[in-house]
Amino acid sequence: MNLNLQKYSHKRFNILTGEWVIVSPHRSKRPWKGQKEVVFEEKKHSYDSTCYLCANNIRINKEVNPDYKDVFVFINDFAALQKDSKSFEFNQGLLKAQSEQGICKVICFSPDHSKSSITKLFKSRINTQRACCF
Ligand SMILES: [Zn+2]
Repeated sequence: MNLNLQKYSHKRFNILTGEWVIVSPHRSKRPWKGQKEVVFEEKKHSYDSTCYLCANNIRINKEVNPDYKDVFVFINDFAALQKDSKSFEFNQGLLKAQSEQGICKVICFSPDHSKSSITKLFKSRINTQRACCF
């Protein structure tokens, strides 16, 4: 089987620990602006035109976020797993791998860009529970 493991999400068997580990090679394509350490409390705006998660903005896959006013949930553009990925098994030398499928979603807890994820998590707990139960 001619299989490019760099193309598909899969799990690999770690012969040292006896555990399976999820490998998502396409995640390196995710946009990342680099980690920024904030030394002082910076005043953030409630909207950022360059943010992939803010309402009405274009995500990296060219989809436009809706004008959401509450919790917004969507399938991750660079998900660790895909639901329709190819099924395979690979066993060659020390490398043992199997396909893995799944769905990864992003939850925006608030349309307010200025709130940190943790702040949004606690303040929007009820809305998040509602969003997760559809
Ligand atoms: Zn934002």
